[in-house]
Amino acid sequence: QQIPIITVDGPSGAGKGTLSAMLAEAYQMHFLDSGAIYRVLAVAALHHGISLDDQDALVPLATGLDVSFITQDKITRVVLEGEDVSDDIRTEEVGSAASQVAAIPVVREALLRRQRGFAQMPGLVADGRDMGTVVFQNANAKIFLTASAQARAERRYEQLKDKGHDVKISRLLIDIQARDERDANRTTAPLVAAEDAFEIDSTDLNITQVFEKAKQFIDSKL
Ligand code: C5P
Repeated sequence: QQIPIITVDGPSGAGKGTLSAMLAEAYQMHFLDSGAIYRVLAVAALHHGISLDDQDALVPLATGLDVSFITQDKITRVVLEGEDVSDDIRTEEVGSAASQVAAIPVVREALLRRQRGFAQMPGLVADGRDMGTVVFQNANAKIFLTASAQARAERRYEQLKDKGHDVKISRLLIDIQARDERDANRTTAPLVAAEDAFEIDSTDLNITQVFEKAKQFIDSKL
């Protein structure tokens, strides 16, 4: 029996994480946050003093990465080598470090099997940049979620403000544009929509509207 797979790709801050979690809940499927794997790898490299461009050291680190995702009461904790790094992996610095290690083709290759291992019954919602184009090319339903850089910077600003962080929108916008640029222009698995992806631009939509659009499309594919 084939395992149903839904992919949600797009740039950072478009709302993929929220949408994917809602879809996993609605369809009662497993959830893969592939960005978290790249983030954990970046943290592991920093812990072990491995430089972010040292591919000879990063590949074995990626292959043997001792990470587990433990979900309890809808909250997922990320544990690296026995240590809870759930908060550590969410900083802007780690996001940027993740996008550096993610630009290395052999590192991406080394993480393929691990990501594909998340495809288990009763199904999977996979969130990332290349879920529909590389990792799960045969997915049943592929969503490509975008939003203007300005809208994404504003959302990120609200999130950080709620957590008590003092940041400037202009600074966030520059970071987002830099990360978009790096993710879109790398040679391996650049950020592009799969040919058969359903595109949703969330700039002027709230999360409920995005969810409804996505669900309608997915229902027609499952
Ligand atoms: O989605 P998130 O911001 O957590 O991802 C962090 C970084 O990991 C991204 O900027 C991107 O460079 C990389 N990434 C990737 N492929 C994925 C998911 C994330 O290259 N499937």
